[in-house]
Amino acid sequence: GIKLKYCSNCGSDKLEFKIPKDDNMKRYCCKECNTIFYTNPNIVVGALCLRNESILMAKRNINPRKGLWTLPAGFMENAETLQEGAIRETFEETGSKAEIIMPYTMFSLPHINQVHMFYLADLLDENFGPTVESSEVKLFQIDEILWDEIAFPTVKKTLEYYIEDKEINKFIFREEDIKLW
Ligand code: ZN
Repeated sequence: GIKLKYCSNCGSDKLEFKIPKDDNMKRYCCKECNTIFYTNPNIVVGALCLRNESILMAKRNINPRKGLWTLPAGFMENAETLQEGAIRETFEETGSKAEIIMPYTMFSLPHINQVHMFYLADLLDENFGPTVESSEVKLFQIDEILWDEIAFPTVKKTLEYYIEDKEINKFIFREEDIKLW
């Protein structure tokens, strides 16, 4: 986990890593001001955006996994909803606007303290192109997907589920745990 050196509340360096009273997990606790620092999983939200049955993907221009292809996704921000996060990430990474169709996949990744969630979405325009975060943005037909160049396992699984569902033209929400200890 993250190592804390200073208390972000009072600036003291008198932090102790211990189980607080009535708790059951170790937390950083400030001896000066008694603040307890809780760390919780981060949520990554994204979208599988469709345009004439093609899928919008972005080639990552930033680490991790620079140079590999992803569905638009990123860390949820404070003060936004999941759907807003998916639409924002799609715009930031591709330049295009999306409209949510339905929640599609949700993955718990306890080994990295993350939850990944993808929506199915309609791509509303074709204004996509390279951005700060993406060196290339492209619509892929199913048979064009570069399976050996996918950035994240949860992106790959979401694409695989989409193809499976597309076969029978019935799209269902899926929840999955990925445990890599
Ligand atoms: Zn403090």
